[in-house]
Amino acid sequence: MQDLINDIAAAMAKAEQRGKVADYIPELGHVDPQQFAISLATVDGNVYSAGCATTPFSIQSISKVFTLTIALGQMGDSLWSKVGREPSGDPFNSIVQLEHESGKPRNPFINAGAIAVVDAIMMGHEPKETLGEILSFVRYVADDDCICFDPAVAASEMAHRDRNASLAHFMKAFGHLRHDVDKVLGTYFHQCAIAMSCEQLAHAGLFLASDGINKPSDMRVVAPQRARRINSLMMMCGHYDASGEFAFRVGLPGKSGVGGGILAIAPGHGSIAVWSPGLDSYGNSLLGTQALEMFVQRTGWSVFGH
Ligand code: GLN
Repeated sequence: MQDLINDIAAAMAKAEQRGKVADYIPELGHVDPQQFAISLATVDGNVYSAGCATTPFSIQSISKVFTLTIALGQMGDSLWSKVGREPSGDPFNSIVQLEHESGKPRNPFINAGAIAVVDAIMMGHEPKETLGEILSFVRYVADDDCICFDPAVAASEMAHRDRNASLAHFMKAFGHLRHDVDKVLGTYFHQCAIAMSCEQLAHAGLFLASDGINKPSDMRVVAPQRARRINSLMMMCGHYDASGEFAFRVGLPGKSGVGGGILAIAPGHGSIAVWSPGLDSYGNSLLGTQALEMFVQRTGWSVFGH
């Protein structure tokens, strides 16, 4: 397996087209687009990495998988009264569908949906307490207490929040947010500004590959049915209006972030994190997707078969 991981990193090192680094969050615009990393954590306890797999990067929307898991733990199925579970077919930051559906976001992985999820988790608490809970959860599933927020990225998003603020105000106008908009946004931006390496992220996703069990500790994080449902949402909605393309090319539940990371889950096999900061026009990592495509072609681990 290490040979395959090395082959993928070598192929990506040769790529000429690397995509475009997100610069609508100015702090992310400084990241070197030449970097590439891949890490596979298997359900039987092995880790295979190549490239800069211990370099932390901004996980951005990959954090939405963790906040969804926390929200389902707190509220169970009542979460679905606040957010839908259908693919949106629109870009991650789109507002159009909110108007058609009375301010209820279509799924937890578009920005509007993730903002509604974090509002649900807050339950009357201050952002600091909610952020503490999010960080403890991520540290627990990654089995690594060093994971932190990057305050510069969070501040950069807050300073350029107009678009996300418009989503939040729109939802609030329909009664879908309970807390102060800036407090919800501050919490959301910090969750997106969690910095993790591919190795940490691959570990953190392992519970979704092993029926809800956190492998390092052998503790149950979620029931098997919940792990399956989170995986299905990742498959259908994890890459926004390119989720169909990702399913077609890779065929694994996956969640991307504009920091250039992708977390992909191969149920029963392992959790794969890839990172390359250059994005395609949908805001998904260009080389990250290619690397995962090569990975499933060689392993046959796509949930749809070889
Ligand atoms: N924090 C980013 C935003 O709100 C997350 C977007 C993403 O990773 N797709 O715009």
